[in-house]
Parts: sequence; structure tokens; C-alpha cells
Amino acid sequence: TATPSSTPSAAPASEALFARARAVTPGGVNSPVRAFAAVGGSPRFITSAKGAWLTDADGNEMVDLICSWGPMLLGHAHPEVQAAVQAAVARGTSYGAPTVPEVELAEEIVARAPVEKVRFTSSGTEASMSAIRLARGFTGRDVVVKFAGCYHGHVDALLASAGSGLATFAVPGTPGVPASATELTLVLPYNDREAVTAVFAEHGDRIACLVTEASPGNMGVVPPEPGFNEFLSRTCAEHGALFVSDEVMTGFRASRQGYWGIDGAVEGWTPDLVVMGKVMGGGFPAAAFGGRADVMARLAPEGPVYQAGTLSGNPVATTAGLTTLRLATDEVYDHLTKAGEVVKAGVTDALDAAGVAHAVQSAGTMFSVFLTEGPVRDFAEASRTDAGAYAAFFHAMLDRGVYLPPSAYESWFLSAAHDDRAIQTILDALPDAARAAA
Ligand code: PLP
Repeated sequence: TATPSSTPSAAPASEALFARARAVTPGGVNSPVRAFAAVGGSPRFITSAKGAWLTDADGNEMVDLICSWGPMLLGHAHPEVQAAVQAAVARGTSYGAPTVPEVELAEEIVARAPVEKVRFTSSGTEASMSAIRLARGFTGRDVVVKFAGCYHGHVDALLASAGSGLATFAVPGTPGVPASATELTLVLPYNDREAVTAVFAEHGDRIACLVTEASPGNMGVVPPEPGFNEFLSRTCAEHGALFVSDEVMTGFRASRQGYWGIDGAVEGWTPDLVVMGKVMGGGFPAAAFGGRADVMARLAPEGPVYQAGTLSGNPVATTAGLTTLRLATDEVYDHLTKAGEVVKAGVTDALDAAGVAHAVQSAGTMFSVFLTEGPVRDFAEASRTDAGAYAAFFHAMLDRGVYLPPSAYESWFLSAAHDDRAIQTILDALPDAARAAA
């Protein structure tokens, strides 16, 4: 097994900034994965970005395969998005009253996604928390079912690990979450129909909702087996529970409509509620949940279920999201598909040549690389990935100007701005990086 590279590329300015950041911020970062803890070395402080490229504090230029963890579908600093945002800023940044862009963004989302009504929030975490509250308020039930390895933001009830048996309630996944917050959560292995059938048989009349990533991307990309989402939707309906599809990562990214466009639209399932974020915010803090009109009608002020937000539907953020979605045409998704095929083939060839066990898995235009034999179908199998080999691979890519996710369990994200030069930079870096992982 390889060990993390001992010679990360020179980044003295980032190292100095990281020391400054650590003095005033826990771990030096505002979201844990950014700290490079899983791969070692100092995180890069980014000073600017354009198209497919990031520039760090030392002036290193890197092809970006994170794209802000998904949102930057069109690439960084897209001129039309920037112009629309600058015009919005010139009109004032927040009024706490209804605005035109939030209506237009809601109309655009309703036209694309399987939702009749939508409510905006500022983060995906808030959106999933609110969707669960609404599902509980609508059904009058309390129990929530989720899958191990699916992430829905840092909602107390969903930061849960499986209990001792399949149909037993969860235990907190982190200190600070009280047992009482997870004692109504059931955590199951992904892609496991028998486990789902068993918990619905035992607890079906208490289950408010089942929440799942439409295609998980937070344990690496682990697509649902054919028919799995349809089975989940049907099982929920049979037991009077709501099917909540989390498309924060896949929404308007895996396809024009999100993962639903390549799965639900084909297999004939419709979620009761959808959680959205990332791309629909165009790089600003905007997220949403939406769904069936009769369910959404339970939300205040129409119904009794309370939910609110000072900056929800913010005019600058919704302008960025609206402009991004309007520019996210079929050509963009065709480009992402083709660029993804080239990168995936390059990764496969390089890892094959170096003799490194791997599984490259896709969900529409999203993909990730597991350094373990595939297929990877659930969190237990994803956990077999060789984290040390990934750290070596990551640093070798970084040294060659390619910025991968600093964790072995994340999706890789491309953008419309990943042109031939960016793709070639990735392809050129891969053979050495694969040998470093061997
Ligand atoms: N749901 C999914 C599927 C996500 O990938 C994420 C974030 O990565 C979230 C929810 C939480 O979103 P946020 O980070 O905006 O709170």
C-alpha cells in the first residue's frame, strides 16, 4: 500500500495562510473536508478561478475537479452569470420581501424537476431538515429511514449511524447529537431491498418518510441498482410514507433534470419531496425543497408546518441560480458526458497499466474513482477503498496541476468550461499518479 506523498508541490503562501487560519478557525477551515486531513499536506488557499482553472496563493494554476463540490456547472466566473449577479447587486442585495428572481427560479425548477411547488433555503442542510419536518407534519408520523453512506447535510436526526440490528433505531454519528435526536431514525445498507422490506414490515405505520440520495455521491458515486428507487417509492406509497429524494448533488448536474431525469422519468417513479442545492444556487448560498402541491400546502403560511429564513430566496443568489440554469442547455450536458468519458477512460487506462485495483462508477454526468475492486454497491464496499493509495494519487495529481477531491469518497466534478487543454492536463498527469498509487 502506498503512503501519502512526502513531497507535496510547493505552496509556502498557502501553508502560511493555513497557520493563520488555524489560529482563528477550528482546523483552519469552515467545512472539514477542505483541510486535507484525509490526504495529508496543507490545503491550497484559492485566490481566483476562471473557467476550469483555480489559482492558489502561490500562483499555482490547477485544473479544478471539485467545482465547489458541484455547483460550478458552467465553470468559474462565467461572464453571463457574473454580469447578471453584478446587475442584481447594483439593485441592492437583500430586502426581506418577495422578488422577481425567486419566482423565475422557482418556475425554472418546476419546469425541470418533478416538483409542483418549491421553497428556497440557504443551504442543503436547511432544505433536508425542512423536508423532514414537512414529511412529519404531513403524515403525523415521526420515524425517518435513511441509508448508511448517504449524506443530507449536518441535520441532527440524519447524522446517525446504524444501531445494532437492521430494524433498530440509530445512534448519534457525532458527539453533540443527543440520542433523542436519532432515536427516530433507522439506518439501512444502500441497495438492500430486503432491509427496506423488513423495516417497513416492522415499523411501516410509524414511518413519515424515507430519505435517500437519488444516486449517492457522498460515499463516492454508488448508483442505485436498476429499479431500486422505483422499489423505494412504491414501498413508501404502500405504507403511507413519503419518498424524499435528495438531489442536492445530482440535481441539474447528473442530467438536465437531475438524476430523476435518467431514472425516475424512465422507471416511472415520482418523489413526494425533492431536496435541491448546489447547481441551482449558481455558486451562491441557495438551496430548496419542493414536491407534491398537497404536501407543500402544509407549509406556513398556507399550512401549519413552520419554516422560514432571513436570506431565503435572496435576490442575488436566485439570480445566479436562474442564470446558471438558463445557460445549462442540452449542449452543456452533452459536453459533460463526453468530457467525462474521456477522463474516465484515461483513469481506467492509467490505473490498469499501473496494476492498481479500481472501480470507476457513474451516475449520469457524475463519476468517481474507488481504489478497490468493484462494483461498489454500498457504504461497506466503498469503505474498502485504499485511502493511502488515494492520498498518493491525489498528491501526484496536485503536483501536476490537477485538483482532485481531497478524500477518496467523493464525486469528481467537471464543468462546461473543461476544454481540451484542461482535459489534456488531466490525461497527462494520470500515468505518473497511477504509478504513485501502486
Ligand atoms: N445533500 C446532499 C446529497 C449533499 O451532497 C449535501 C452537501 O454536500 C447536502 C445535502 C448538504 O448541503 P449543504 O452543504 O448546502 O448544507
